[in-house]
Amino acid sequence: MNPTTLVTGGAGFVGSHLCERLVEAGHEVMCVDNFHTGAKDNIRHLLGNNRFELIRHDVWLPLYVEVDRIFNLACPASPIHYQTDPVSTTKTSVLGAINMLGLAKRRRARILQASTSEVYGDPLVHPQTESYWGHVNPIGPRACYDEGKRCAETLFFDYHRQNGVDIRVVRIFNTYGPRMHPRDGRVVSNFIVQALTGEPITLYGDGGQSRSFCYVDDLVDGLVGMMNQDREVGPVNLGNPVEFTIRQLAETVLRLTDSKSRIEFHPLPQDDPTQRQPDITKARQLLDWEPKVALEDGLKETIGYFRKLLAL
Ligand code: NAD
Ligand code: UDP
Ligand code: UDP
Repeated sequence: MNPTTLVTGGAGFVGSHLCERLVEAGHEVMCVDNFHTGAKDNIRHLLGNNRFELIRHDVWLPLYVEVDRIFNLACPASPIHYQTDPVSTTKTSVLGAINMLGLAKRRRARILQASTSEVYGDPLVHPQTESYWGHVNPIGPRACYDEGKRCAETLFFDYHRQNGVDIRVVRIFNTYGPRMHPRDGRVVSNFIVQALTGEPITLYGDGGQSRSFCYVDDLVDGLVGMMNQDREVGPVNLGNPVEFTIRQLAETVLRLTDSKSRIEFHPLPQDDPTQRQPDITKARQLLDWEPKVALEDGLKETIGYFRKLLAL
């Protein structure tokens, strides 16, 4: 029989794609979300499916359900959102991890944590390998997210060592694709929406900082692969190792949308990492996984999604 799988944050950008994939694979899927940054529209197409169930719930609170597997994704992910109410962000990461680990312990369920490249902070090692401990400002504006996620990793490994909980930890690097929130402030959605509506492209700093962008379908392959393998608890980096500057991203989006938007320079936010690129050797060896979708192809899909959403 297929497992019953809980996805916290299942109505979010990544979570909705994961729920879709699991339902297609025959899982009974329980999607838990408080709709803080997610939306019912993201999973509306699944609501009529017998294998899909939606529960409005906040992971700060205990949850008693009977499941075999848990993907713990609940957490705002865009800097604008996670910094609006930073205390709530840390509570979601830390209390959410404790409750979901308690549930996993009671159920003897395997649980995967969606950690992040932000655990590396503004990295001094490049590209980032899993053995790097990171360079994080513990009292800056990003700390609620970075330290919340670091503490969640600590909890995962302590529940594993102390209680034998069957954990998996992945560190996700910048991911983009359809169902990103048009105003969630992340760079790919910002630039595409600005380009499509003719508004100025808001480039922070001189645009020389870099990121490596992974298309959401590739990420979901990695999440499922990590959950399904029995050899390693992690942490394992999941991301696209092809690195671009933010200025290059702006120019690519302008070209692909055939937009006349001009580039407008804004101050670089505090503690904005200057470079980021995953070393995915471990994921390649363990999961036989690597991203397949090139940035331009993924951007075209995402642009198509936003065109429809904005009815342009
Ligand atoms: P998202 O904001 O679209 O999704 C997060 C979901 O969690 C939303 O549906 C939100 O409503 C829900 N949520 C937030 N707080 C909650 C709470 N207290 N209780 C229940 N639900 C809650 O973001 P996303 O990009 O889909 O990210 C999903 C996960 O992946 C997050 O944990 C994020 O930290 C991690 N991640 C994402 C990226 C990325 O580039 N997208 C990179 C690294 C890590
Ligand atoms: N918990 C939950 N669902 C469960 C089991 C536990 O939400 O099915 C929560 C519960 O709120 C608890 C937390 O998980 O506080 C941690 O559980 P654990 O068993 O580690 O701790 P304890 O109950 O001993 O405090
Ligand atoms: N960025 C930008 N303009 C925007 C939004 C973001 O230049 O409108 C930059 C931001 O300063 C950062 C990069 O793009 O250097 C990625 O930002 P995002 O918020 O998407 O993710 P993160 O900083 O968490 O990697």
